[in-house]
Amino acid sequence: MINRRRLVDTFMTLAGIDSVSRRERGVVDHLAVRLGDLGLEYTEDGAGNVINGTAGNIVARLPGTVPGPTLLFCTHMDTVEPGNGVKPRVEGHAIRSGGDTILGADDKAGMAAVLEAVTVLKEQGLPHPKLELVFTVSEEIGLLGIKEIDFGRLESVMGFVLDSDGTPGKVITRAPSQDRIVATVVGRAAHAGINPEDGVNAIQAAARAIADLPLGRIDEETTANIGVIRGGQATNIIPERVHLEGETRSLDNNKRRSLTEHICRMMTERVEAAGAQIKIEVEQIYSSFALEPDTRPVRMALKAAANVGLVAAIEQTGGGSDANVLNEHGIPTVNISTGMRKVHSTEEYLLIEDLVNTTRHVLEIIRLAGLNKE
Ligand SMILES: [Zn+2]
Repeated sequence: MINRRRLVDTFMTLAGIDSVSRRERGVVDHLAVRLGDLGLEYTEDGAGNVINGTAGNIVARLPGTVPGPTLLFCTHMDTVEPGNGVKPRVEGHAIRSGGDTILGADDKAGMAAVLEAVTVLKEQGLPHPKLELVFTVSEEIGLLGIKEIDFGRLESVMGFVLDSDGTPGKVITRAPSQDRIVATVVGRAAHAGINPEDGVNAIQAAARAIADLPLGRIDEETTANIGVIRGGQATNIIPERVHLEGETRSLDNNKRRSLTEHICRMMTERVEAAGAQIKIEVEQIYSSFALEPDTRPVRMALKAAANVGLVAAIEQTGGGSDANVLNEHGIPTVNISTGMRKVHSTEEYLLIEDLVNTTRHVLEIIRLAGLNKE
């Protein structure tokens, strides 16, 4: 049913188009042509203007040929860096980048699978319920695109995000919430050799602030990190400012909240004890979700995986995705594997077999929904 060569070509074409976050215009323009060729109605929203990017989210609609629940398939169009000038190449059974960039299978493998599935539906006149295809921008920098989607216009009763690594058949049903913590430690500048007694060293205060924080894995569902530290100008100046950025995550919203509070309190105490001041801003980037195994999208994704011979497995993740926001807006959504591996690195690769299996998985989910049983 699936045209393997066309599927690989679609992926290679998408991978070759630059689309780092906020710069997705090239992929949107290509997608517009593909959706047009398929005769699909689609809209581009105004997310690009809101988030200062070159393109908005695309929502395409495929009217159903049979009754059944409206299904949403969501993938993201942006990539992390280094993501410009990707030269995808087939090497044996795998597709890799030239080695100096990521491949961008995250998430173009998902995009290619969805496009091939819809092409197969059209080409072969297969029965299917109504489908909504959502292609988002700026997922990688805090799920910015999906947050701008006009949810009032979506009809789907369940969703499938194709944005998880590993072997197809894996179904993510739980994902954490995340807080972003941005802090500025403010001391007092002075000449380091002439009047150091007038200074308060912000670097030393910041060091004290983070030295004893609970970081890394806190428990099986909770993590914390300080990922950015910037400050100081010269060895002869007592540094006045240090910028810190960190995050907390947990599958349990209460744990995340109290961990964030604990970290903020500790940093404040330590910094003030060092005679400096601290300004801290906390922003919740997204909410957690947890779907029970008997929820419709979970059952359908597992059943479909098993039907096409994949190892169906429920898993949880430590990462956020568009699924977090879809669930938050009342569309129960799982995140399924696309086969992408070693994502966010120049060693990222994708097995062609996995790309084919992801497409088969999608087609089977659609077929099951058309039978209206799962
Ligand atoms: Zn992704």
